[in-house]
Amino acid sequence: MAVLNRLLRAKKELSFSSSYSWMTTACMWRSSSSATFSDAADLSGAPSSPIKALPVRQDPKDRNVQWVFLGCPGVGKGTYASRLSNRLGVPHIATGDLVREELSSTGPLSKQLAEIVNQGKLVSDEIIFNLLSRRLEAGEAKGESGFILDGFPRTIRQAEILEDLTDIDLVINLKLREDILLEKCLGRRICSQCGGNFNIANIDIKGENEKPGIYMAPLLPPPHCASKLITRSDDTEEVVKERFRIYNESSQPVEEFYRSRGKLLEFDLPGGIPESWPKLLRALNLDDHDGEQSAAA
Ligand SMILES: [Zn+2]
Repeated sequence: MAVLNRLLRAKKELSFSSSYSWMTTACMWRSSSSATFSDAADLSGAPSSPIKALPVRQDPKDRNVQWVFLGCPGVGKGTYASRLSNRLGVPHIATGDLVREELSSTGPLSKQLAEIVNQGKLVSDEIIFNLLSRRLEAGEAKGESGFILDGFPRTIRQAEILEDLTDIDLVINLKLREDILLEKCLGRRICSQCGGNFNIANIDIKGENEKPGIYMAPLLPPPHCASKLITRSDDTEEVVKERFRIYNESSQPVEEFYRSRGKLLEFDLPGGIPESWPKLLRALNLDDHDGEQSAAA
């Protein structure tokens, strides 16, 4: 594929001088927005357009899926991206995982990355593209037919570079109220033994005025993980709020970039996975006969 050549070429064009950060993750909600909790597929760019679904395609399993997920880690982006990747048979590629894997390996960038992370500095676009291109290269060798990118691109510059590398055909923007996101970000836990991701936050907000209530059950660990839970060191309130602030600054141009190309699917999460998953599938025209079944899985 030409993708790799373009990736490698673009890598060379990158410099270390970027001040942008791939690490700036936060949430899409802005308190002044008129967003509701209904699921809305907005491909037109109009802020309050009616629900629209993507055009129906033949068989989703037969097509090349080259999708991007935007949204805060606390929003459950990784969970939905992972479920969709299982359903569509394409890999779920999270740049955060790529960085963590490199850090725990003896790969060529591990030492450099460790220094950057230990000093609280931002990982450059060059490093991210380096890791990503290696991952796509490995995938291509294995015959992977597409991907779902999670946590990338985070800046307009990354979006532009990615656009030059490959054809992204859909960008799913998961959104959730910022106060709920904060609670969810602070509720994240990881099993130190198996690496499983859980969330102890129990969201139960009553509806008021025109806003519907929202309920999101915690994602509790199985008994054998319960005593081994750890919190990621960057999941403190101060750090999370700073992530929101930086993310809000950089996310708007990225959203606009994809909106203007007709690729942005805005999705306001109506609740936890049981409420959101079937509606997300519907918005993606993937709600075939086994949709409700896998929602409960
Ligand atoms: Zn475990």
